[in-house]
Amino acid sequence: MRTPVPDYLAEVLDDVAGDRSGAVADYIPDLAAADPEVLGVAVTTVAGRTHVAGDADVEFSIQSISKPFAYAAALADRGVETVDATVGVEPSGEAFDELSLEAGTRRPKNPMINAGAIAVHHLLVGPDATGADRVERIVGLLSELAGRRLTIDESVYRSELDTADRNLAIAHMLRNYRVLDRPAAEVVDGYTRQCAVLVTVRDLALMGATLANAGVHPVTGRRMLPAAVARRTLSVMAGCGMYDGAGDWLVRVGIPAKSGVAGGLLGALPGQVGLAVVSPRLDAHGNSVRGVQVCERLSRDTGMHLMDAEPYGSTVLRGSTVDGDATVVTLQGVVQFSGAEAVLDHLAVEPIGTTEVVLDLTRVDRLSDVGRRMLLEGLRRLADDGHTVAVVDPDGVLPDPELGDGTRPRVRT
Ligand code: GLU
Repeated sequence: MRTPVPDYLAEVLDDVAGDRSGAVADYIPDLAAADPEVLGVAVTTVAGRTHVAGDADVEFSIQSISKPFAYAAALADRGVETVDATVGVEPSGEAFDELSLEAGTRRPKNPMINAGAIAVHHLLVGPDATGADRVERIVGLLSELAGRRLTIDESVYRSELDTADRNLAIAHMLRNYRVLDRPAAEVVDGYTRQCAVLVTVRDLALMGATLANAGVHPVTGRRMLPAAVARRTLSVMAGCGMYDGAGDWLVRVGIPAKSGVAGGLLGALPGQVGLAVVSPRLDAHGNSVRGVQVCERLSRDTGMHLMDAEPYGSTVLRGSTVDGDATVVTLQGVVQFSGAEAVLDHLAVEPIGTTEVVLDLTRVDRLSDVGRRMLLEGLRRLADDGHTVAVVDPDGVLPDPELGDGTRPRVRT
C-alpha cells in the first residue's frame, strides 16, 4: 500500500492552485523576480516522517521564518533573563517593519517584528561574538535542523542590504535606546544574511517538527533546543507569528506559525507535526495567500488546531482487577497530570480489599515528570495505609521509583 497522506496534500494544493490573488514582495528587488506560480507543501511528524506535494524541493529565502529560530538560539545562548530584558513577547498589532518600541521598557514588542528580530540577532552567541560568529550560529542551527548544510543566497542578501534603509533606521533607533551595543550596520548585515538563507518546504517542515517535538530532532533524536526554549518559541509564534494578522490566524488555523516575505509559511503543532507551505504571492498582511489557505484547510480537515483538545486523561486508567491478594491497576498511554489524577482518584475512591496494590505500567508509553511524581506519591500513601506496593515496568518508564521516604515499590518486570 502507498500511504494516502501525500495524495491528500496534493489534493489540497490542487484546490488552492487557481487562486492568483496577492502579489510577490517587491520592496527587496530580488524577491520581485520570484516565480509566483511556485506552490509546495511538506508535513513532518514528530516521529520524523515527511510527506510532500508540489514544489517541495524549490529553494527560497527563509526571510522572517528565521526569526523564531534566532529567538530560540538566543534563549539557549544567553538565557531567558537577558533575552527578556531585550525583547518582549506581546503581539504588536503593527506591521512587521514598524519603528516602534514598548512604552516604558523601550524594548521591541516581540521577536517576530523586525525591531525584535534585529535585537535578537545581536544577542546570538555572546557579548564578545563577531558578526561572523552570529551568522554562523544561526546558519549552523538552521542547517542542523534541516539535516543538510544550508547556504545564503548572495544575490538576495545584497539586494536586501542595498535597500535596507528601514532596517538600518530600526537598528539606529535600537542603538539610541541602548538595546543594541554593536554598530547598527554590523547587526543589520548579519540579520540580512540570516534572512537570505535558502530553504525548501521540506527543510522548514523538519525545523518545525523539532519545535513541535519539544526541541528534539525527530529524525536524529538529538536534543537541539531545551524543551523550555521550544515551548517559549512556539508560544511567541502563536501570539505574534503572523504579522498583524496573528489573532485572526489563531482563531481560524490555531497552529503556531511564522511567515516570510518570500512566500514561505512554517507551522508547528506541539506533539504532532511541523508543516511548511511556499507560494510567493502575499496578502495585505504580508502572508502567503495560498499558504494561509493551505493551512486553513489542513487545520479544518485534520483537526490540527491548538485549542482542539482530546480528553486523553480519562483513557490512562485501563482497568483494575483483583489477582489473589493483589489489586492490579493497569495504566496505558501517555501519563500527564490529568491521567495520573484519574488513577489517584480511582485508588482514593474505590475500596481496596487486598494487601498488595500493583501498578501495571506495561502499556504506558511515557510518564511525564508530573505523572511520575503523582504516581510515586500515590504509592507512598498506599504504603502509609499499610499496603505493600509494586510496579510492573518491563520498559523502565518509571526509573528509580523512590517513594520519598527511602523505600521503593517492589519492581516486577
Ligand atoms: N528580511 C526581511 C526584512 O527584514 C524579512 C521580512 C519578512 O520576511 O517579513 O524586511
